[in-house]
Amino acid sequence: MLTALWVEPHWNLFMKPLLITIDGPAGAGKTTVSRILADRLAYRYIDTGALYRAVALLAHRRGISAQDDAGLALLCRDLTLTFVRGPNGVRLICNEEDVSDPIRQPDITMLASAVSARPLVRLFLLEVQRRLAKEKGVVFEGRDMGTEVFPEADIKFFLDAASDTRAVRRHRELDNDTGQSLDAVRQDMQRRDHADSTRTLAPLRPAADAIIIDSTNMDIEQVVDTLLGHIGEPRA
Ligand code: C5P
Repeated sequence: MLTALWVEPHWNLFMKPLLITIDGPAGAGKTTVSRILADRLAYRYIDTGALYRAVALLAHRRGISAQDDAGLALLCRDLTLTFVRGPNGVRLICNEEDVSDPIRQPDITMLASAVSARPLVRLFLLEVQRRLAKEKGVVFEGRDMGTEVFPEADIKFFLDAASDTRAVRRHRELDNDTGQSLDAVRQDMQRRDHADSTRTLAPLRPAADAIIIDSTNMDIEQVVDTLLGHIGEPRA
């Protein structure tokens, strides 16, 4: 007997795997959106901020300052960084230690911004990031994904939101863990955004061919749907 079997068509199965980049300032919702987007597309998700944070964490533990290029070079020389998918989501393993939680501390966040301005650190992580892109079907989240690391990406997004909205979102995200006040979060965020967008090397800015999305008045689902809409659209 012939039975009609209806399989829900999944458009992603018919698309060639893409390299998608999502850049933007702190608190714009990049991480949540990138994770959901990658899940929906059955893609890998790479949080490149975590890589800068891992360098900062090790520098902090070893007493290396963000200005000490010789110390940072030594640190990078022996550094192995791997993303591993486990029961608690994707974890970052740094020299065999799971550093996914300690890299989220506020002092490490600020140090990450400082070490990320050092050319040798950026150069080292540029190679790490490009190696992670050997296979497509991946969403890369960061600050310079579309401009410096993957100028040839298939589709680039720049996710932004009003500064106050970003501070509130970030505070909500961090509150339970750090106990930082909204004002402290806002100040850290503004300092970090200023440093990230004014540094000489690979500053935070949208690529010329990036699709800019202002998420101030959107919820996560609306942002993800907007991104999926662009990904589904044939582009000139
Ligand atoms: O995204 P996240 O807040 O985890 O990034 C931490 C810091 O790492 C940023 O403030 C920025 O200075 C740096 N970063 C960067 N380039 C990237 C990703 C993050 O400079 N691609």
